[in-house]
Amino acid sequence: MNAPSTEISIGEALAWARKHIAPRDARLLLCHICRTSTAHLAAWPEEPLSAAQWKVFQHIVDRRITGEPIAYLTGEREFYGRTFFVNASVLIPRPETELLIELAIAHFAAVPHPRVLDLGTGSGVLAITLALELDHPEITAIDASRDALAVAAANALRYGVDVSFLWSDWYALLKHEERFHLIVSNPPYVIEDDPHLTQGDLRFEPLTALASGQDGLHALTAIIADASRHLENGGWLFLEHGYNHAAAVQKLLADAGFDHIASWKDLAGIERVTAGRWKE
Ligand code: GLN
Repeated sequence: MNAPSTEISIGEALAWARKHIAPRDARLLLCHICRTSTAHLAAWPEEPLSAAQWKVFQHIVDRRITGEPIAYLTGEREFYGRTFFVNASVLIPRPETELLIELAIAHFAAVPHPRVLDLGTGSGVLAITLALELDHPEITAIDASRDALAVAAANALRYGVDVSFLWSDWYALLKHEERFHLIVSNPPYVIEDDPHLTQGDLRFEPLTALASGQDGLHALTAIIADASRHLENGGWLFLEHGYNHAAAVQKLLADAGFDHIASWKDLAGIERVTAGRWKE
């Protein structure tokens, strides 16, 4: 596209970008490139961009025009009040996943040194947030994608937390005798041929982190089936799932011998997390 080629000010760059993408997206991307705040952009519209900043801005606006998610363009997304690195190897953290964190914290607030397992950690947001919020926990985080584990490890380093990362297909490479007080997971749970997978941000996210069989329950079924082998007596399993999965997940947990089974609604009023306790 034809962009101005001489020296460009913040205001001119934003005006140009607004012809192609949403004004808010334009501001967010320019803030990222200039390493500044939206307040600064608004206060100093006449400030010039360097040639490099202008070039990079044009490039990422072009990528935004194709629909690439803002989080992948800036390489970051906020979750539970902290900023995490993301890239196209990991799911972009969603606000509804904060419900799982709130529930896990509420259940484990008074438990010192809990051993916690995060299955399908992706960017590591669950593992790292729990590492920071629980009382001296011991955290293990598993993913089947090495590229995802690299992102999660960078996030653990960013927050100075100690997480044991394991490249594994769910529990496969855990030691037989390894047991946890808490297992959490935000696994793939979208129905394989759900048209949403070909729309919006989801087009750019890893399919392996999103889709899970004809009913969206493949991963959830596998996780529940083997959870009891890796839970302490009285340990808890907390699972995020799809909008219509609560009854099915409750039944899978009941059939596997869990008790204290319950589901909770996210801010949109959708039953989004279901948990069960492995019997004492
Ligand atoms: N909640 C996500 C979505 O529907 C899916 C996340 C997942 O599969 N874990 O966009």
